Amino acid sequence: MAEADCHSPLVNSYSRLPVTFNRGEGARLWDTENNEYLDALGGIAVCALGHAHPAITEAITQQAQTLLHTSNLFGIENQENLAAKLCELSTMDAVFFCNSGAEANEAAIKISRLFARSKDISSPKVITFDGSFHGRTMATLSATGNTKVHDGFAPLVDGFIHLPYNDLAAIEAVAGKHDDIVAVMVEPILGEGGVVVPDDNYLAGIRQICDKNNWLFIADEIQTGVGRTGQWYASQHLKPDVITSAKALGNGIPIGACLTRGVAATLIQPGHHGTTFGGNPFATRVGLTVLQTMEAENLPARAHSGGERLKNKLTEALHNRPEILDIRGAGMMIGIELDLDCSRLVSIGLEHKVVFNVAAGNVLRMLPPYNLSDDEIDEIARRVADSINELCHDNQAQTTANGSQPKP
Ligand SMILES: *Cc1c(COP(=O)(O)O)cnc(C)c1O
Repeated sequence: MAEADCHSPLVNSYSRLPVTFNRGEGARLWDTENNEYLDALGGIAVCALGHAHPAITEAITQQAQTLLHTSNLFGIENQENLAAKLCELSTMDAVFFCNSGAEANEAAIKISRLFARSKDISSPKVITFDGSFHGRTMATLSATGNTKVHDGFAPLVDGFIHLPYNDLAAIEAVAGKHDDIVAVMVEPILGEGGVVVPDDNYLAGIRQICDKNNWLFIADEIQTGVGRTGQWYASQHLKPDVITSAKALGNGIPIGACLTRGVAATLIQPGHHGTTFGGNPFATRVGLTVLQTMEAENLPARAHSGGERLKNKLTEALHNRPEILDIRGAGMMIGIELDLDCSRLVSIGLEHKVVFNVAAGNVLRMLPPYNLSDDEIDEIARRVADSINELCHDNQAQTTANGSQPKP
């Protein structure tokens, strides 16, 4: 094993599962042994239309036959069309395109720095939250509220204040103490942090605090956006100054977007920011097709109704399991919090031919395609429940053998 790792041509950045998929269709995946799986992870919130969706395949093929890339030195029709569609659906004003979620957040953080300069604040601070995840670049990992993501990368980028999530009083308290805060950056639901849904008034409260103090309200919707929670963007009714988006926007083709409103839409001027690939004709054609397909098929509404069905089926199947602490989420973003060590759970799921992952150590996380059929939803719920039951039985057997209490 160690020998094999030494000779791998890949940097050892991921501890990978021993399964390789080489084909997909809708919510189904096949591995190299031709085993069929139901995909409740969607490539981590990316493949919201499922795999090999005909409209996406056609857009990719047509654009590949037409034009892939010209650079941002020239006009790009697809980029303008996608920006217009994003602004229409989100009610934002203007879009900067990039290639990933972390890059979208980098753009948001740079906007907050330009905003600070416009207010003559020389050492600006952005409030972010414990348990948050904002990316792996130096600025976004510094923004991230998780010391595991920081470890090994000091010195971090300066200018972030980490506060507890879902705690408006904590924000109010620092508002009085610092006059160099310029923005709050927040996930509407913590994704990597374990599908943590805040109180109903939390985001609206942040909007109010930002208005009162003249701070930017930056919503990191890289995981929650593009229809996943039932709305195009979970925070859009609160009119954020900045919304960042990526993941599902390309259904597998890399694309990121930083959506801006009002003053935040005016701060970046030529020379401030850019990227070679960002918004190229190919990625933006696919992004536009993703949004058009979701709109035509009313998929944000389906994400909501399908997610409710999935949560109900899971609750039915698991209601008498004391190891289940909570089943929560919005739309097609669902977490099951367990009072157990879940390190084996993903492998058990693969044995039951269902794909999900585990966030924050003990939260089984599902981010499936929005266009699941009712039958697929019910089957996913059955397989997930079977996987959890197996983990619980194994754990109990072990506990009895050891004569000790299970370790959470
Ligand atoms: C995935 C994610 C990111 C980072 O996106 P990448 O495309 O991996 O750079 C940032 N914020 C949130 C909330 C995410 O879920």
